[in-house]
Amino acid sequence: MLNENLTRSKISKWLRETDREKLTELYDVADRTRRKRVGDEVWLRGLIELSNYCRRDCLYCGARASRRAERYRMTREEILESAKLARDYQFGTVVLQAGEDFALDEAFVADLIQEIRERYQLAITLSLGERKDSEFVRWKEAGADRYLLRFETSNRDLYDAIHPTAEGSVFQDRIEMLKRLREIGYEIGSGVMIGVPGQSFDDLANDLALFRELDLDMIGCGPFLPHAETPLGRIEARNGEWRTVSIHGTTSEDQRGISLSTDKSFKYPTTDGQAPNDIETAFKVVALARILCPDANIPSTTAVATIDETGGRKGALERGANVVMPNLTPKKYRRLYDIYPNKAAAREEAEKTRQTVLKQIREIGRVPGIGSGSSPRFLKRRA
Ligand code: SF4
Repeated sequence: MLNENLTRSKISKWLRETDREKLTELYDVADRTRRKRVGDEVWLRGLIELSNYCRRDCLYCGARASRRAERYRMTREEILESAKLARDYQFGTVVLQAGEDFALDEAFVADLIQEIRERYQLAITLSLGERKDSEFVRWKEAGADRYLLRFETSNRDLYDAIHPTAEGSVFQDRIEMLKRLREIGYEIGSGVMIGVPGQSFDDLANDLALFRELDLDMIGCGPFLPHAETPLGRIEARNGEWRTVSIHGTTSEDQRGISLSTDKSFKYPTTDGQAPNDIETAFKVVALARILCPDANIPSTTAVATIDETGGRKGALERGANVVMPNLTPKKYRRLYDIYPNKAAAREEAEKTRQTVLKQIREIGRVPGIGSGSSPRFLKRRA
């Protein structure tokens, strides 16, 4: 039976499924579950990318500290202007997102939260990476509602191999951090990348089972899309191992000192198969997440729209998703927040993105949600 009690081995089997009829059944069940449990509204979250500075050096991300990139940090007034747009567009929620940029300090972010609440009465989601406990507490007290922290993969070896701990900081466990965020009172969201080199179908099945175990309020997943100017943007599979390849015959700074080819974590998962980073696998993950966590809010992510701007966004909404995060970052900064290549809507104005999203929602017979749109899971837990 396709329901929230699916075992890990059944989840893994569905991830490998290629039979079109069976996949149609999976997607139908996910869509019916979505309609029954969270309704036909698509909640719109205005995404504001505050800064592309980051102290971390994740091996796939365009914002990684060691990449030579043009950096920006929005001013307080620019951020408030973008939040005003969210209010004018009746989005109900803003998502304040950035790399781990400690210049966005406790006081600055707390002030922003208070100001956005007072001026625009919007719900506030934070996505600012691993931060100090005192910051989480202060920001909640200031009025933040939700925190997004993706654990990216539940395979510990793989996680460690691609997420070096930042210099001068201690290792932090994101799973523990999510539990703590819930304790503080946040609605908590997490998610993973789909198709990371070295990630097997069983790994992905474990990720999905962990969503259920953590009883997440929000789940955001997207295909693995490495930025070309990063170590994982330059790898190819050879003889069962992932190896770095140079671009245009040059060896870049990023590749020095990082030996991917000899790291056992980057060997192909030969026993149970490498999970692909294609759109079909992303759709399967969205559908299974909906079935396993029926009351969660699940976005149709920008990464899915990046692979296929129309079919991707609508496809995920038709397979279990119920949230879209239109980008409200000022156009002059959007192209600089290039955490992965060819990001959807990276070069357009907020109004154009909004129109496109609303049109796509109407085309599939759904309606934009009005209000803050907390996840039914969160509301039930609090009742
Ligand atoms: S993935 Fe996040 S933490 Fe890692 S380098 Fe990119 S922005 Fe920073």
